[in-house]
Amino acid sequence: MRAFISVDLEGLPYIVSREHLFVKGALYNEARKVATRIVRTVAEELHAQGFEEVVVADSHGPMVNVIPEEMPDFVSLVRGFPRPLSMVAFARGSDLAIFLGYHAKAGTSYATFDHTYSGATIDRITINGIEISECLMNAMLLGEWEVPVGLVAGDEALKKDLELLPWAEFVTLKRASGRYSAISPSLKKIEDELREKTRIVVEKLEKKELKPFTLERPVKVEVRFLNSAYAEVAELLPFVHRKSGKEVEFTAETMENAYKILEVLIFAAAGVSYITSR
Ligand SMILES: [Zn+2]
Repeated sequence: MRAFISVDLEGLPYIVSREHLFVKGALYNEARKVATRIVRTVAEELHAQGFEEVVVADSHGPMVNVIPEEMPDFVSLVRGFPRPLSMVAFARGSDLAIFLGYHAKAGTSYATFDHTYSGATIDRITINGIEISECLMNAMLLGEWEVPVGLVAGDEALKKDLELLPWAEFVTLKRASGRYSAISPSLKKIEDELREKTRIVVEKLEKKELKPFTLERPVKVEVRFLNSAYAEVAELLPFVHRKSGKEVEFTAETMENAYKILEVLIFAAAGVSYITSR
């Protein structure tokens, strides 16, 4: 069996400062160590429960946060950005998916670093009418590949999203008092809970209690950008319809196509942001 882990930074315990989030940030090394330890804990438990291979997709920023030499030999590490299918690259064909260090969607109160894929350009994304977080969007694509999400660990403000993934377990890694402040349990307590929930999830998988999150197709996507110039560039694609100054919508045949188109729109917006800020 193969398990897939996607790990972000903003929902990890103790990560509250922007200095944690960039390669040259003063606290970046602290974030790397926490990410590595949390991933290793879950990967080791998965291996103990019979998974021969664990694919870990390093999914924050430059996507080179997890320290490779500290990964056990059964872990394959997906690194680097930009990359196709971003946070779920190389997940296809896995039996189980786990999200670690995930955070709430843009506009959530009392949530550390609330954002949806791109804090600099995206205000809101809905897919088939569901306002998505990164957790839900990734779960939708995994669902199309018939990979169920069994465990999510991150900011407590994200837990509400699991109403749409009722079979999944949640581990709270932090409870935010604001965008840049949170309280977290000790690493020891977190690691114990992650191991316990991982065991529960593997049992659920064996009992076929985990479900892929599937959507009706075609998939309808609406995006509200933070700036009208981003919508203007998105609208250059003939299948993208401008709804208002900052909003566009499009329809895709599959969730995989929707995901790829969203990646392009976000890269295009980042390009416009770069050009216009010089
Ligand atoms: Zn991130």
